[in-house]
Amino acid sequence: MPIVVQKYGGTSLADAEKIKRVAKSVMKEVEKGNSVVTVVSAMGHTTDYLIKMAHELTMTPDSREMDMLLSTGEGISIAMLAMALKSMGQDAISFNAMQVGIMTEKTHSNARIVKIHTEKIKKQLEKGRVVVVAGFQGITEDNEITTLGRGGSDTSAVAIAGALNAIRCDIYTDVEGVYTTDPRIVPKAEKLEKISYEEILELARLGANVLHPRAVETALQYNVPLRVRSTFKTDDLGTLIIGVNDMEIYKPVTGVAADTSQVRVVICDVQDKPGTAGKLFSLLADNNLSVDMIIQSYARSSNNTNDIAFTIDTGDLAKFESLKETILENLTASNIYIDENIAKVSIVGAGMIDRPGIAASMFKTLTNENINIKMISTSEIKISCLVNKEDAKKAVQALCKTFELECDTIAEVKGTLPD
Ligand code: ADP
Ligand code: ASP
Ligand code: MG
Repeated sequence: MPIVVQKYGGTSLADAEKIKRVAKSVMKEVEKGNSVVTVVSAMGHTTDYLIKMAHELTMTPDSREMDMLLSTGEGISIAMLAMALKSMGQDAISFNAMQVGIMTEKTHSNARIVKIHTEKIKKQLEKGRVVVVAGFQGITEDNEITTLGRGGSDTSAVAIAGALNAIRCDIYTDVEGVYTTDPRIVPKAEKLEKISYEEILELARLGANVLHPRAVETALQYNVPLRVRSTFKTDDLGTLIIGVNDMEIYKPVTGVAADTSQVRVVICDVQDKPGTAGKLFSLLADNNLSVDMIIQSYARSSNNTNDIAFTIDTGDLAKFESLKETILENLTASNIYIDENIAKVSIVGAGMIDRPGIAASMFKTLTNENINIKMISTSEIKISCLVNKEDAKKAVQALCKTFELECDTIAEVKGTLPD
């Protein structure tokens, strides 16, 4: 029988009623004659709650123990969903990542999957059971528990679909698909029938948390047909992710994303000589700190120094703070300035290739809203601007207007709107 992998996110599993609804949706797929593997996230905001609990003890928790703690969230959901399915007459069995053998590299909190053992899942599918698997978690060769990073259940699902050669991976969530931007920020954001892997990958990396970036990378790598659709409106087919060559490109910009989870660091007055940037970024890499946007200023002729600015994840700030003294000494810098009041606002579109004037339109739109741009970075299909955090929402709304990314209907979003 063809295998379909489904993934349900936390909001879709927030309480017993919602779990029953998910169970019905799983059974609907079984009725179509498919073998079903269902990957689940932790219920509701469980992961946020667990992180808060750890932070009440320490702001720099041990990463191994943090993975031990966070992996418990998904453990609850698998048992709950398998119970619901069985109580409704559908045979099912739950497995955590250790039982399945979702093997990852030996890194905590952001591990990558290296292999998935499929025998156990296949055996259960042959018995006519729905297999419910915990997302987000993995295990190393030494039996250490790992997690894949926030939002990582999407990646678990796609990787399992790839390993099982599934005909499809459906990501069920609290919105009806991929929109031109977060419908919580722009209620008239347009739902996209299709989007290319390349564009959704950029949007996901730039803060559109509807899909985990590594889920898209994995889908591309293993050729997994991927759909994002609504848990609450199962008849709607949602958004299909397809190759860029199959897209008809008629708009320069496909989507807008905002990321408020970074901080900007400025290292002031470093010597303008060969090896300075190498020294700085090697030190950061050696300490497992990922850097995003980087800008080096033009050297001041008076003292032959310049400033190097870059962004890092807010979650890495405590680690960075512990390296500040070493950086100041090694680079003979005068000061390190940290700006937490930033948001990265980005436009993405395969249609902007070879089309001049898109960056100018973006900057003009931000100027008209009186929004100051602190940093800019570009690639072939995206332009990002760093702005003040309080300007992010206004920037996204204005950019959607400029690039015609709105429609007449209001998106149906479950849950509360952010401020
Ligand atoms: P889940 O719990 O199902 O994994 P997430 O909260 O991780 O759900 O992702 C779904 C959320 O992603 C939506 O509620 C929406 O607010 C947000 N989102 C951000 N950008 C987009 C976008 N371009 N299209 C759809 N949803 C988006
Ligand atoms: N429960 C994890 C998180 O909240 C993984 C996921 O939801 O995909 O990040
Ligand atoms: Mg998610």
